Amino acid sequence: MSTAVVPQKSSRRRRARKRARQKSVDRRMVLVAVLLLAGLLSAVYFLARGEGARIITDPQIARIAGLEVPDWVDQQILPEDSDSRRGDLLEACNAVVIHYVGNPGTTAEQNRNYYGNPGTKVNSHFLVGLDGEIIQSIPLEEKSSATSERNRDTISIEVCHPDEEGKFTEASYDSVVRLTAWLMDACQLEGEDALIRHYDATGKECPIYYVKNESAWLQLKADVEAARQSN
Ligand SMILES: [Zn+2]
Repeated sequence: MSTAVVPQKSSRRRRARKRARQKSVDRRMVLVAVLLLAGLLSAVYFLARGEGARIITDPQIARIAGLEVPDWVDQQILPEDSDSRRGDLLEACNAVVIHYVGNPGTTAEQNRNYYGNPGTKVNSHFLVGLDGEIIQSIPLEEKSSATSERNRDTISIEVCHPDEEGKFTEASYDSVVRLTAWLMDACQLEGEDALIRHYDATGKECPIYYVKNESAWLQLKADVEAARQSN
């Protein structure tokens, strides 16, 4: 009798040991999963903090926030408490919008500083100056105040011009093409509507020379496309 009981007992014990082992493995796996999740969340949190103390949940906007702006762009980001910098995140990024500053002979720096003045409500992501200099005044992932209802999903470039006609200087033009090509590549913007004038968004005559001269606008678009091809 005893010889029959022993193997039964031992197999019960084996099954109990197996169940215990399985439970302990399950517990370890849950612990590992929890630790991984905690690690991931804190990594996301600290990365977001580094980019301006906020968590960006939209993957497209998060990617844009992480872009490294080329060294030919002079970053003069407006203080967060500037009246013109609202600090709202883009809701999407669907196009680059070209503007002219509408104030003949002013420099990129002057316009950037104007954005920083108390009470100023307008700004743009970038300013291109008469000598081709490029200033960035707000972070890429934030909404600018330049294109009314399209502020929500566009990146804006304001361009300086020597006179009322509003035609860009050769140096400005080249910088607009270079900057726009970089932005469209970096933000993965494709299609006819991915590069527009302020005029195309709201009907405002901006940038005036490129509204009155459709062929000059189409040439600019073609030059941006060519620059993208050669990048
Ligand atoms: Zn405009």
